[in-house]
Formats: sequence, C-alpha cells, structure tokens
Amino acid sequence: MRSFEVRTPRRVAFVDITAQVTAAVEGHGEGAAVVYVPHTTAGVTINENVDPSVRADLEMALERLVPSDLPFTHLEGNSDAHTKASLMGSSATIPLAGGRLQLGTWQGIYLAEFDGPRTRRVLVSVLAAP
Ligand code: ZN
Repeated sequence: MRSFEVRTPRRVAFVDITAQVTAAVEGHGEGAAVVYVPHTTAGVTINENVDPSVRADLEMALERLVPSDLPFTHLEGNSDAHTKASLMGSSATIPLAGGRLQLGTWQGIYLAEFDGPRTRRVLVSVLAAP
C-alpha cells in the first residue's frame, strides 16, 4: 500500500489526484487499484477532468441536494459534509492493465473535500491479478 497527503484549498473542493494515484501504482501490471480516503467529511469520485465547470456544477448540485441549513442534530455542525462524503463514497476501484490505470479519456480521480481546508490522506492499494 502507498499513501500521499493532499492539502485541500477550501471548505468544498474537488482536488484532482490522478497524477498522484498514477505514481502510486507504478511498477504494477495487471489488477485493480483501490483509492481510499480514511475520512468522514471527504470522499473519492471519478469524473470529467477537462472542463472545470463540471466540478463547479457538482459542487452546486451537491449544495442544492444537501444544504447546510437542514435541521441536522450532529453538534459539530458539519453534517452536510458528512452526508456529501457518504454520497461520494470513501473509495474508488480502477482496473489496472499493462501497468496503466484504465481511466477513460475524460476521466480524472478526485478527492472530494466537504469540510476543508485540511490535510487529507489518500491510500492506494493494488490488488494484483495472479
Ligand atoms: Zn462531524
């Protein structure tokens, strides 16, 4: 397993971690990479990596789905962040073939921050094919 840290810039941000994940699977051939975030207010998602308006739209849509002024009870006051993190999920699995992540042309891997800015940890495990 390999890991790296990401400093997120704002309370809500989609940080492109494709390059770090690509580096973390170097030296592996066939199998799958599991990208995992050990946090409760951040997640991992795969989406468009070309037009940045897609990320802005995701942020806007998630804010509409889970506004921070819902009648939450969690005393920390960040239940919108916990809920959005669960919607994204805490891991993504990407097939690995010929030593390359099998991402589509327009796909990037994102750490989805919902309660930043913070330093987040990302773990990458390779499940090697026999
Ligand atoms: Zn909390």
